[in-house]
Amino acid sequence: MEAKKIRSTFIEFFQSKQHQFVPSSPIVVKNDPTLMFTNAGMNQFKDYFLGNEIAKATRVANSQKCLRVSGKHNDLEEVGVDTYHHTMFEMLGNWSFGDYFKKEAIEWAWELLTDVYKLPKDRLYVSVFGGDASDGLDKDIEAFDLWKNIVPEDRIIFGSKKDNFWEMGDTGPCGPCSEIHVDLRSDEERATESGFDLVNNDHPQVIEIWNLVFMQFNRLSDGSLKELPAKHVDTGMGFERLVRAIQEKSSNYDTDIFTPFIQILEKKSGKTYGENEKIDIAMRVIVDHIRAIAFTIADGQLPSNNKAGYVIRRILRRAVRYGYTFLGFQKPFMFDLMPLLAENFGEIFPEVAAQQDFIAKVIQEEEASFLRTLDNGLKILDQIQVEMASKSEKIIDGKTAFELYDTFGFPLDLTSLIARENGLSIDEKGFAEEMAKQKNRSRAAAEQETGDWIMVSDEEGVEFIGYDHLEAESKIVKYRQIKDKKGDRYQLVLDKTPFYAESGGQVGDQGFLESKAEKIKVLDTKKENDLIVHFVDKLPSNPSATFSAKVNAEKRRLTINNHTATHLLQAALKEVLGDHIQQKGSLVNESLLRFDFAHFSKLTDEEITKVESIVNAKIRENIALYEQRNVPIEAAKQQGATALFGEKYGDFVRVITFDKDFSVELCGGCHVASTGVIGLFKIVSEGSISSGVRRIEAITADAAESYINEQLTLVKEIQELLKSPKDVKKAIESLIQEKNELKKEIEGLHSLQANAIKDALLNQVEAVGVTNQLFATVNLPSADALKKIAFELKNEVENLICVIAAEIDGKPQIAVVINDDLVSSKGLNAGNAVRELAKEIQGGGGGQPFFATAGGKNLAGLPSVVEKAKIMFSQL
Ligand code: ATP
Ligand code: MG
Repeated sequence: MEAKKIRSTFIEFFQSKQHQFVPSSPIVVKNDPTLMFTNAGMNQFKDYFLGNEIAKATRVANSQKCLRVSGKHNDLEEVGVDTYHHTMFEMLGNWSFGDYFKKEAIEWAWELLTDVYKLPKDRLYVSVFGGDASDGLDKDIEAFDLWKNIVPEDRIIFGSKKDNFWEMGDTGPCGPCSEIHVDLRSDEERATESGFDLVNNDHPQVIEIWNLVFMQFNRLSDGSLKELPAKHVDTGMGFERLVRAIQEKSSNYDTDIFTPFIQILEKKSGKTYGENEKIDIAMRVIVDHIRAIAFTIADGQLPSNNKAGYVIRRILRRAVRYGYTFLGFQKPFMFDLMPLLAENFGEIFPEVAAQQDFIAKVIQEEEASFLRTLDNGLKILDQIQVEMASKSEKIIDGKTAFELYDTFGFPLDLTSLIARENGLSIDEKGFAEEMAKQKNRSRAAAEQETGDWIMVSDEEGVEFIGYDHLEAESKIVKYRQIKDKKGDRYQLVLDKTPFYAESGGQVGDQGFLESKAEKIKVLDTKKENDLIVHFVDKLPSNPSATFSAKVNAEKRRLTINNHTATHLLQAALKEVLGDHIQQKGSLVNESLLRFDFAHFSKLTDEEITKVESIVNAKIRENIALYEQRNVPIEAAKQQGATALFGEKYGDFVRVITFDKDFSVELCGGCHVASTGVIGLFKIVSEGSISSGVRRIEAITADAAESYINEQLTLVKEIQELLKSPKDVKKAIESLIQEKNELKKEIEGLHSLQANAIKDALLNQVEAVGVTNQLFATVNLPSADALKKIAFELKNEVENLICVIAAEIDGKPQIAVVINDDLVSSKGLNAGNAVRELAKEIQGGGGGQPFFATAGGKNLAGLPSVVEKAKIMFSQL
């Protein structure tokens, strides 16, 4: 069975069991401070498990894009080295939100694997949670009994908490699980050793394929477990592993998911897969990593120097480095895999195919820049080796290796490899220490301690009324304490709130909560999944009081001007540059708007002017906002609404329209009632933030007015400085021209002056033995003149030794000239001489044996320079 068919069969099987298909959520996680990337199918359903939200359907099936390269689940170091862990992989899942539980989950899993996919029963093992004393949990006898009905008892394993108790993170939903493992060894091997003992033992052919999690608990921050309000099923099956089992391969990379990519690499490198372990690992790393990189870029995360962007950058570098070292790729090569990737995954993940060119461009640029870095790093490593050779050292110290890693992105194994080739080794312990130090530094900066929620009322729903109101009578539903580098703060959830939580680029609202007794400042509002969380620096003395929640209206007013202007800007960019304009990020606050978008060339001045004038025309049209809430997503798309890749949309969306033929966007943000209030729109900068992505910053309303006034004031001030000419530009041009002419004139005069001085010096030359010597103090206009005179004298006078002590612009300078023959025959050296003479002027310098210069601080020392020089050369 082909991979594509295996995937669709999974979905169809669960659809036949009344499950609803749900698309994968983006791989890059927004609105969840505990997670950077989706690492399991359950992430997008977290709120259902926690009871924060009610599931739209109680039975769901999906294929989720997952990435396990950071945090609790980090498989990066295994990837490519083994054949069944990937960075990015698809997790197939079926879900019950308070509907069926262990019985159906177990029976259906078995039916699908053995009846539908026809996996041989005698290759399958199952595991069941064996209990854990520290958590006070018993064996999962319920699951054991259910399995016993369908699987012989000697194929059921009781597993530890590590293997059979699934947790998303340090806190959050969790529960016992039952795993299904498959033994893919040959019949001979299976005959000699039972697979039973190899389960959960890192055997590359006896691997877990499916995990059925019975979500029952919420892990609190003190480590204790609390029963969840309802029981759920969360299953996750690694798609790539399943395909391997069905296609009877001994490696995920031998399935039709990966072989076409490996073939491309074989062709490009001229090397064959399967002959050399190092080459194999390199190929596996590359065909794995390209997926992780492409999928994350497709979901809007560009490689960068921090957080999620940095994780992607490091994955890409890992792949490039393997290609460089083991496959001989010295030029970008990964981006070339994009067409195949788009073709193979376009159907299930359309975001990749739709942005194929953009993603390829970003990857290519990133590769090129890392290859340059690699080159530079190699040069530095060469230099280090030369230095070490002269000191006969054999170990590169940890600090140096870490610097190569940290500044040049040079992985330790590469540094060791090159070092080994040169008979050197690396202080790996020292490297690890430096690494730990850095980790501690960043951990201390990022660490946040989060307490458990304290319930104040048992209010269920949380209502956002901030589109229509800036004030509300609200009660606190729950609160918790957080500690981070900003200090102690609290997070509050209100039953009803006018505060907009940061999202879609728009900053969170600030304001106050007021009760009769006190006034509490709301510092920020953010989303945590779908929860609206208000940040305050102090807890109300009576949390159950009723509060009047008031948004800072002025800040909100300025912010919405910028938000609506962002929509107008995007529409105008499409008109001027074309329909390919895809938003790649935005920031909207009270002082500016920032809009990042995919576009390959710099905007010309005309284009910028055109965009500005379209936006300003739309502002003057005073278009009324047309807001539609709860539009079915399909209907919204039919209206031509612009949606973003990497954004998670529900079944019902909000559509914001300013002129249905101009700007229609899916948007949850706040907007002006009609465009006229924006007043004025002005672009203040346009530039590139990375390959293929441009950034525009613009201002509106009050800020735009002030900006224009400042510019006009500047022009006026310039005008006044120029004594108010009719044409300022012309006046400045003629000033520049005049200045250039004067400069030329002065240069001419300086040259005449230098010639006169040189002629005078010629008369002071004295013969000493075989040499002609000249020692003099002079006053000169420039260092250039000094150099020029020195060289002319050298050419005109035979066997010359000359020391000129000059005052230039009030500072002392020395030039020493020695005839080339004298340098070789008498072993004289102008560099040495000038260093000695420079002591008289408290300075230093150097140069070549025949010409050297020095500058200094002590002008009064110039005469002694001449005296000292006379003595220095008197013996010749
Ligand atoms: P393993 O012990 O093999 O790392 P896991 O216990 O981390 O697996 P789960 O968190 O239970 O796995 O995830 C559910 C399923 O997802 C696994 O049964 C497996 O098929 C698949 N899976 C997990 N991690 C990876 C990965 N890095 N690459 C590919 N598939 C994976
Ligand atoms: Mg794992």
